[in-house]
Amino acid sequence: MPPIDPTSQATRDAVHARLRFYRDLGIGEFYRREVDPVLWAQPQPPAPEIQSQSPAPAASPVPPAALFSQSAEETEIPPRKPFPAAPPQSEPVPPEQHFAALKLIRDEIGDCTRCALAKGRNKLVFGDGDPNAKLMFVGEGPGADEDASGLPFVGRGGQLLNNMIAAMGLKREQVYIANVVKCRPPNNRTPEPDEAHTCSPFLFRQIDVIRPQIIVALGQTAVTYLTGEKRALSAWRGVTHPFRGGAKLIVTYHPAFLLRDPNQKKHAWADLQIAMRELGLTPPARK
Ligand code: SF4
Repeated sequence: MPPIDPTSQATRDAVHARLRFYRDLGIGEFYRREVDPVLWAQPQPPAPEIQSQSPAPAASPVPPAALFSQSAEETEIPPRKPFPAAPPQSEPVPPEQHFAALKLIRDEIGDCTRCALAKGRNKLVFGDGDPNAKLMFVGEGPGADEDASGLPFVGRGGQLLNNMIAAMGLKREQVYIANVVKCRPPNNRTPEPDEAHTCSPFLFRQIDVIRPQIIVALGQTAVTYLTGEKRALSAWRGVTHPFRGGAKLIVTYHPAFLLRDPNQKKHAWADLQIAMRELGLTPPARK
């Protein structure tokens, strides 16, 4: 097998794909530790043959135990930082002022450079939809299509979300869609905690203005930063959870995950049916 180059784009892509897979399963607790340079040492060219009667000294291999022992420089894995508390809920805004109140939040965000994600973004993706929506979807963050357009969920995942909304008997314009972070993370990686914690207060303020009856968290990142709790997705799904402002939180898979594993669509549909029951919706008749 050729040696793995840890700096290559292929290796990074493979690691991203694997981490995303774990995250979709609800496994999100990873830590980074300095890599032992011995593990990544490139193979050396063979030594020139020595014309000698005495046998060549054998190369001293790295003792296997040394590869796994803790080096003197290795630090203890720091304990997980507690999540900062969600900002206090703001006062209700009359429905006819929701649009203006959302615009105020957008104006306050401005050309934001509050976190590192500002560096790589083209367009900030604030949110989209009905300021008086009863149903709100919250995703993780913009992807390439969203970064280019400035609108949430417009790529392939967005098309699937549109289909999910239509299956509920609604139009996209009748719901509100936003993300935990408003700028695209590089290579669509999961937002870092400091990025999500810096940006999510704006999301909470959007929620406090809109005051939806139901919030559907799309995927692990959304539910983690909405609730401040890390649990496997399976522990969240299937029931409603009380949320700020009297809203009910429902958790389902992110559309990007459903594109990768279409077998899970039936489970996502079961989650959306919980939302429909809460909203008193009946699915449109099949044509
Ligand atoms: S992700 Fe949020 S906090 Fe970070 S730069 Fe963008 S708008 Fe600002």
